[in-house]
Formats: sequence, structure tokens, C-alpha cells
Amino acid sequence: MTKILIIYTGGTIGMVNDPVTGALIPFDFKQIQQNVPELARLNYDLDVHSFDPILDSSNMNPEIWAELAAIISNQYDVYDGFVILHGSDTMSFTASALSFMLKNLSKPVVLTGSQLPIGEIRTDAKENLITALEIAATKINGQAMIPEVCIYFDYQLFRGNRSIKYNSEKFEAFRSPNYPILAEAGVTLSFYSNYIQQHPSEPLVLESVFNTNIGVLKLYPGININTVQAITRSSVQAIVMETFGSGNTTTAQWFTDSLEEAIHAGKLIVDISQCQRGAVELGKYETSKKLQQMGVISGFDMTFEATITKLMYLMGQDLSYQQIAALMEQSLRGELTV
Ligand code: ASP
Repeated sequence: MTKILIIYTGGTIGMVNDPVTGALIPFDFKQIQQNVPELARLNYDLDVHSFDPILDSSNMNPEIWAELAAIISNQYDVYDGFVILHGSDTMSFTASALSFMLKNLSKPVVLTGSQLPIGEIRTDAKENLITALEIAATKINGQAMIPEVCIYFDYQLFRGNRSIKYNSEKFEAFRSPNYPILAEAGVTLSFYSNYIQQHPSEPLVLESVFNTNIGVLKLYPGININTVQAITRSSVQAIVMETFGSGNTTTAQWFTDSLEEAIHAGKLIVDISQCQRGAVELGKYETSKKLQQMGVISGFDMTFEATITKLMYLMGQDLSYQQIAALMEQSLRGELTV
């Protein structure tokens, strides 16, 4: 029988209203089971690992990502697939982080959650959970159909490190702006195998040391020298710079000087776009030519979530500045298109 481990971290899916404050708070897995009697009808051998405490995903952090990755790696041979129940708010960060931590993954790790708690009549939780389990159980020629970390939400399966949460009100909470969906659930489950990662030939490797000493610089017309230098002159080791269009910034001398000074001080600067679709193309415009010349790294079409977790991951390894810079511009887990 197909064996699946459900890892319950928290999120709206299992929340209930606090009778005193009225706010939604995480609740235990038992009530999820009670609300989804269908689980018993699925022909899978299901085990549950419940986090303690159960979290709203706004409280996620790299230590908890490491805990999650360790659970999967320790039980890797026991289960055919893993379903992680997680709050939607930071699900794309966790999915991105796990994709880097679990190198050579050959089994499905499917994150899901919901916009309405499982106890609500109109909940989206049941469908998300049941189909996530089906996806985690699907095999082709004896191998997992999806050897990837992915997110299943509202009838669509996304590559985790390509996903973003873009809507906090609709059931369609996620999108994958720069990569096609991996599968779709209608009357049948349709898998789009051309877009799914190949099975690795090497065994799973867990790499969960993250370095979080990273700053974020989001540009806007009117940004001033104090704001920019608060980041560029800080003690961070790397900066994710969110730029305009295809990677463009102001060409004001003080701005480019500030970036150059930071690079000379050993800070790695990665350029990603504020646009959700499309990629950074350094040198396409005059307003990104200088960035390219001074050694700013292109994040191409990576999401913010993938960029920051990839940097934390690479900076946690024993790698040189040049190695990290080179790897940032390569696809490690299908997170970018060069
Ligand atoms: N605040 C919740 C969380 O991320 C939202 C959700 O689950 O959709 O844990």
C-alpha cells in the first residue's frame, strides 16, 4: 500500500476561532481528521506528524524549515510521498527553501493548505488535502510522478520555487508567473510531464544550514541616499535588489557609487525585477549597463521567495563569493530560466 506522511505545521486549514478574541488560531490535527472522513476511504497508509506548537506560517523561519527537511530526510525510505499542511502566507518561501535543502529529491513533497478553515461549510481545505494526497501517491513506471517540492492549491500544482502567494481573498491564492503549472485537477488529474523535473540519479542529500545575513533593497522613484546606504553600508553579506522592469535602476551617481562601494566591501548584490512576469536582462537598457559592469548578479526570472532562500542556502555552504555568484545565475532546482 502507498505510504504517505502528512506533516501538519499549521495554517488556516486547521484553525478555529478563539472564543475570547475572535481571531483565527491554529488547532490540532484531530479536528482535521474529523472533518475529512474521506481520508479513511483513501487506499493509502497515512501517518501524521504534527508540529508542536502548531504555527501560523507568519512564524516560519529557517530553523523550522531545517526541522521539516530533517523529518523528510529521516523518513525518506519509509514513505512514498510527503504532504505538508502549511499556512498559505509563507508557503512559497518554505517550498522554495525545501527545494534547495533536499538535493536530488526523487519523491513528491506537496505543500497545501487552505483559505478557509476545514470546519467551515464552504471550505477549500478538503479538496486541497485530498488531491494533494493523490498527487503525492501518483506513480509512473514504479517511480514518483512528481520528484519535486511543489504546492497544490485550487486545482493547480505549481513548482514550489516558482510559486508566489498573490491573493489573500480568493481560493486561487497562488500563481507561478514564469513557469507552467505541473498538473491540474479536473475530472481527472492531468500531469504535464514536459515541465516536471527528471528523476535524479544520485541519492538524496540534506543541506539545511542557512545564512540569513541578507538585506533587501526595494527601489522606487524618490528613494534617497540614506535609505540606500542603510542597506549598502550595513553588515549584511548579500543584498536582494528589487528593480524596475528588466532589471533597471536609477543611474544617479550616488546610487551607483553606493552599490559599487558595497560590492568592493564583499557584498553580493542580486538583481530581481519588481515585475512578476519576465526576466532581468542586465545591459538591455542604459539603466542596467553600469550594474552589469560593476558585477551585480542577475536573478533572471526568479521570484523573491526563491532568490532569498537560494541565497540563504548558498551562503550557508562553504562556498566562495565567486562560487555563490555563479550558482545564483544557474538553475539548481528549476527555479530560474536563463
Ligand atoms: N495566516 C495563515 C497562515 O499562513 C493564512 C493561511 O493559512 O492561509 O498560517
